[in-house]
Amino acid sequence: MKVKVAILGCSGRMGRNLIQAAVEHQSIELVGGNVRESSSFVNFDLGELAGIGAIGHKTSTDLNDLLNADVFIDFTSIETTLENIKWCQQHKKALVIGTTGFSDEQVSIIEKAGENMPVILAPNTSVGVNLMFKLLEVTAKAIGDYTDIEIFEAHHRFKKDAPSGTAVKMGQVIADTLGRDLNKVAVYGREGITGERDKETIGFATVRAGDIVGEHTAFFVDIGERLEITHRASSRMTFALGAMRAAFWLSEAENGFYDMQDVLGLK
Ligand code: NAD
Repeated sequence: MKVKVAILGCSGRMGRNLIQAAVEHQSIELVGGNVRESSSFVNFDLGELAGIGAIGHKTSTDLNDLLNADVFIDFTSIETTLENIKWCQQHKKALVIGTTGFSDEQVSIIEKAGENMPVILAPNTSVGVNLMFKLLEVTAKAIGDYTDIEIFEAHHRFKKDAPSGTAVKMGQVIADTLGRDLNKVAVYGREGITGERDKETIGFATVRAGDIVGEHTAFFVDIGERLEITHRASSRMTFALGAMRAAFWLSEAENGFYDMQDVLGLK
């Protein structure tokens, strides 16, 4: 049996890729998607929105039109996702959240929602990125104590938050492995007379330019050598396909708060 999925924010950059990925996925049936009331794509065929030809499902502005979906996939904005969670909780629907940039307090709200519904918070749904988190853990364990650790990320000019959710998660994985508190050791950009580097520091550098889909590198640098672990996304379809994998996994999960490591069995 196919899992019935609806896409929230389906006219966005990710939304259109999600439509295509859902249509192409053999275990998923796309049953609908929503757009803002002010959108020029209200009542628009989802397939045409994604550039793959009409599929017979139109965009809606009312979540109540999407009640036949079992799993919702949300790549919208922080405010919208927090509203969508309330609706999903009320209607006992599973939710894959791809939206990024939540504060610790907002993550706690999502975690709490997991008591009443299955929810995945996945700031990066790419399989490669999630494998990279595992590699960072192994690397930090082996050489993190004596190397200088820096994280670099680059994204397109339209991205609204910085550093990316993925870069922060990379820092979190490394800090947790080394027993450091990321809130205390993170340095977000440097300017002026900064003094020598504090050994415990985890630095973040951000580039925003053009159409870069997403690049992340962790540097582990010593005197005489450096190790770089890099992930480069060349198409948003990688995130969309990962989100489908998450939706399929979530359709069989109990109520709870999950991440992509759960989906991929990397825990
Ligand atoms: P985007 O601005 O192109 O798309 C967001 C869409 O959501 C827009 O079409 C907007 O109209 C829609 N939207 C917002 N509020 C809405 C509402 N109330 N009702 C209906 N639609 C609404 O942005 P994007 O590049 O597609 O990214 C969306 C989010 O996904 C961002 O937070 C981004 O950082 C994140 N993202 C996550 C991953 C991942 O792997 N998890 C990958 C890429 C982007």
